Amino acid sequence: MSTLTSLSDFMLYDLHSHTRASDGMLTPEALVLRAVQMRVGVLAITDHDTVAGIAPARAALIQHQLPLQLINGVEISTLWEHHEIHIVGLGIDAHASEMRQFLAAQAASRLTRAQLIAEKLEKAHIHGALDGVLRLAEGGAVTRGHFARYLIEQGKADNMAQVFKHYLARGKTGYVPPQWCTIKQAIDAIHHSGGCAVLAHPGRYGLSAKWLKRLIVCFTEFGGDAMEVAQCQQPPNERRQLGDYAQEYGLAASQGSDFHQPCPWIELGKKLWLPGGVEAVWTRFPHLVG
Ligand code: AMP
Ligand code: MN
Ligand code: MN
Ligand code: MN
Repeated sequence: MSTLTSLSDFMLYDLHSHTRASDGMLTPEALVLRAVQMRVGVLAITDHDTVAGIAPARAALIQHQLPLQLINGVEISTLWEHHEIHIVGLGIDAHASEMRQFLAAQAASRLTRAQLIAEKLEKAHIHGALDGVLRLAEGGAVTRGHFARYLIEQGKADNMAQVFKHYLARGKTGYVPPQWCTIKQAIDAIHHSGGCAVLAHPGRYGLSAKWLKRLIVCFTEFGGDAMEVAQCQQPPNERRQLGDYAQEYGLAASQGSDFHQPCPWIELGKKLWLPGGVEAVWTRFPHLVG
């Protein structure tokens, strides 16, 4: 093993995080400062359907001379068999025109969905939601996370889990089926902008083992490169199970906190390590951290 490889083994990678460009609570600058504080060496910013957080984060790296490698990322919402599946793109060229056009279409879908959700809430006598979420999003990508915050602000629920359960999950008052792109379209857009495509948090879609395997097979057949195996909060055995799937289906393995805001149980870089036997996405695609 070369010295370089063994050194990279000690590097802490967090390849999934959010800023205020979507539904994260920290500015890009505060996020990279916190990543360094948490001893993360390589961070990917992966906001929902936007790359707007990346340039300010890079500016902050230079301004503060931070010892952090930043990977350009994005988390794309897709629709597959009535499930909302998230595909992370790592190492994309954020300026590639195809990616820009693609993300503009996703942003338009987000806005349309937000308008429809607000109409439904209006009918349920919850007023002003559209103005509320646009205010909270501060010009960034509008997500259900913003609706959740607005509803908490209005005293409709105490926390995010509760508000999703009662208002925003499928079948609830404020649920609107989204018009996202397909998994194939997301993978193609990522590849055309030079990135690799990672199936995000496969354990979080509520799929049975049979359906999860079906998802991984489809993702692989569409040209997907890797899947997230490690997160800081996941059920016991999930990491090993996902690692086994990655190996079985020939996908590289990724890891990320999916950090949105400071909280006791989810933190940048926390509990992020890969199980034995998998191939790390940064090893298979060394240009990511080149
Ligand atoms: P959207 O992409 O607009 O559907 O919003 C999805 C975002 O809402 C996710 O990225 C999470 O940040 C947040 N979210 C979804 N479900 C939950 C939940 N049960 N509890 C807290 N946040 C959630
Ligand atoms: Mn989110
Ligand atoms: Mn996600
Ligand atoms: Mn995420």
